[in-house]
Amino acid sequence: MGSLPLDDALFSLNPDTFAEESTAVVDFLARYYRDIERYPVMALDAKPGSIRKVFPDAAPETGESMDRILDDVQRDVLPGLTHWQSPSFFAYFQANASGAGFAGEMLSTGLNVVPFMWKASPVATELEQVVVDWMAGLLGLPELFCFAGGGGGVLHGSTCEAVVCTLAAARDRAISRLGHAAILRMVVYSSDQTHATFQKGARIVGIPPANFRVLHTTAESGYGLSADTVRAAVEEDVARGLVPLYLCATVGTTGLGAIDPVRELGQVARCYGMWLHIDAAYAGSAAICPEFRCHLDGAELADSVSMNPHKWFLTNMDCCCLWVADPTALTSALSTDPEYLKNVGSGGDVSPIDYKDWQIALSRRFRAIKLWVVLRRYGAAGMRNYIRRHVRMAEWFELAVVADERFEVVVPRNFSLVCFRLRPRLGIDDDEVDGLNRQLLAAVNASGRAFMTHFVMDGKFVIRLAVGGAMTEMRHVRDVWELLKEKANELVGGS
Ligand SMILES: *Cc1c(COP(=O)(O)O)cnc(C)c1O
Repeated sequence: MGSLPLDDALFSLNPDTFAEESTAVVDFLARYYRDIERYPVMALDAKPGSIRKVFPDAAPETGESMDRILDDVQRDVLPGLTHWQSPSFFAYFQANASGAGFAGEMLSTGLNVVPFMWKASPVATELEQVVVDWMAGLLGLPELFCFAGGGGGVLHGSTCEAVVCTLAAARDRAISRLGHAAILRMVVYSSDQTHATFQKGARIVGIPPANFRVLHTTAESGYGLSADTVRAAVEEDVARGLVPLYLCATVGTTGLGAIDPVRELGQVARCYGMWLHIDAAYAGSAAICPEFRCHLDGAELADSVSMNPHKWFLTNMDCCCLWVADPTALTSALSTDPEYLKNVGSGGDVSPIDYKDWQIALSRRFRAIKLWVVLRRYGAAGMRNYIRRHVRMAEWFELAVVADERFEVVVPRNFSLVCFRLRPRLGIDDDEVDGLNRQLLAAVNASGRAFMTHFVMDGKFVIRLAVGGAMTEMRHVRDVWELLKEKANELVGGS
């Protein structure tokens, strides 16, 4: 491969060299995954700014061989990675990779079509409609979010984009009723556990920052947002002449995995004409198991729902499902119709979907083929087993924490996220407890044997263990518990 005809390889998509080079990349990745447990989960030696010095100041003047490039990936790139696919990665929420997700991504990238409208690749649009309907069925979403039920779904790159689109739809729906000036009176409601992207999204669509409500949640409700709290805040705003616009309900919050009561929030939203969005970015995947569907009970009261297959659903980055009950609300806010994008008269009674009008950008990827490959390759039963396996591992870890008197679980576990800490002891104050927990987390992460992140709950520093890696097995969860106990012994002595 060192003697590749570089001119060919560079300036054409030569099927022969392309196959050879891509195979080398696949072999490289297979080796990486085989060896992944040998790498420290975090890039331990990386200091800000230290890595870029390794790379030349300018792009090469002449092309280089793929062999050489892959050698450099091994030498210069791998050591600077945080290994998200490591089976001992328990930080944030997972970004699952899988064989089928990879294959689907290869097909998407390999075909490289840009299906912004139906005509631009009819099958890409229609397969997307099929897979979002399939997903809605698997999650047990109400029929009204399916195309046959008058709603429909779309694949975005991230929840953040999906949220901006729903906020724009809600805003324009209200503007059509109240006029453009009303935007200054529109209010968005969230909880103190809601993902920060809602605040950012509200800013992007022009909601005055002072009109973004961050409502308090408490331990009693498991940090879910109570409908009474929302009602009280809305009443106060209405009395001041403000316009309740949008309410976010989260199923599985990022910090603690908390669950907002969807039905009750939906009733409040209906009562005041607010748009209700359900953010199930992480935990939506669990809803494919009947035992977790109850958390989406009341979804028929929502205007939109989103979840990320790129988190806990074996779908490589990136893929977010967004469903809306009323697609015209979305397309009214997002459609453009310049001459160069006039669609075909499809000839039939059905006017085709142009997904450019369901998203921010014009260009888009053929993500549907990726999710379709994942669903076909593993099947619904396989996916349910996959989810349940992680939940069982998290259950085991939670019980281990409970059984060790030095530790406490700070909020009952939901799904596969365990939030815990070293517990306060006689004679040390809250700051010292926080300090010990910070040290514990730092020691675990510095070992390179696992990676976890933290959250601050009611002012307390808590450690999160998010189980859900595609390669994570029970032994990795046992190992991380042993590691935690080992570091705890060094900090506070044995149990
Ligand atoms: C991860 C997450 C998001 C953000 O998702 P992106 O796809 O990264 O934009 C939003 N909400 C919740 C609850 C999440 O867990």
